[in-house]
Order: sequence, then C-alpha cells, then structure tokens
Amino acid sequence: MNSPAEIAGHVLTWTNVLKELAGLAKSVKDLGSKPVSKEEAAALTQRIIELQGMIVTLQSDFLQLAQTNHELEMRISRQDRWEAEARNYRLEDVHGGVTVYVYRPTSASAEAPHWLCPGCFSNQKKGIFVMTTEPMYIRKTYKCLLCSLPIQVSVVPGDERPRQNG
Ligand SMILES: [Zn+2]
Repeated sequence: MNSPAEIAGHVLTWTNVLKELAGLAKSVKDLGSKPVSKEEAAALTQRIIELQGMIVTLQSDFLQLAQTNHELEMRISRQDRWEAEARNYRLEDVHGGVTVYVYRPTSASAEAPHWLCPGCFSNQKKGIFVMTTEPMYIRKTYKCLLCSLPIQVSVVPGDERPRQNG
C-alpha cells in the first residue's frame, strides 16, 4: 500500500470518517432533549463502533506506511554512501589478466593502497585482498577477506603499473 493511488485512498477514507464523525456529533447535539428510540440509539452506537474500527485500521496502515518510508530512506542513504565510496575504485588488470578494484581516491586520502575483490564489489561489499604468503616471495597470494577468493600476482597494492588513460 505505497502507491499514490493507495495513499490517496487512505486520505479519502480519513476524510470520510472525519466528516461522518462531525455529522454524528451534530445529530447528537440536534437531538437535544428529544426522546430517542431504542433502535435509533442502537444504530448510532453501532455506527460509532464501526467508525472506531476504521480509525484503528487507518492508524495501523499509517504506521506501516511510516515504517516502509523509513526503510526506503535507509536503503537510499546506504546506496548513496556506497556510490560515493565506489567512486574511489577502478577495475584494473594488475597482473596479466588478474583484475581487481584498485583504490584510486578521488581526493587526498590517508588510506593505504589496497585492492578490492570484484565479486564482492558487485555485491556492494568491500572485500579487501590481504596477502597470505610471505612478502619476500616474488609470486604472492592474496585472498579476499570476505569470500576468500585467491589471486596470485607479483605486484603489491600501490605498485601496479600506472593507468594509461586517466
Ligand atoms: Zn570477495
């Protein structure tokens, strides 16, 4: 129940409930000291109970809408944060066909050079590659901290060959 048509429907229901409540209040006032039949009193009570039920339903729908709205805002904010973060990485071939996301900050940064796992990156997660062999070896193995994907390269982050264009 998030479409504009559904929300408009809710507003209409609220308006009708409020109108009817105002009408009921007026007819009770107009009754004054006139005698009211048992049937009239019962019908009035019945209608008041129905309106109370509608109000409870509307309140519950409203809370659900507010909750959905909050969740959407959170999702958008997470997405915005990820997109800002992702701009600091470029997919590059760092060693004969080994492709990783290389940290290329768009502004001055104190973060150490590092690489991110392309698989985790496509899931909007920062899977940092960490070296799992001795640094002295020419051919080094790195593994993604999140999914354990291994890569073997002879360069270290920050020592990749420079980008050709940009
Ligand atoms: Zn990974």
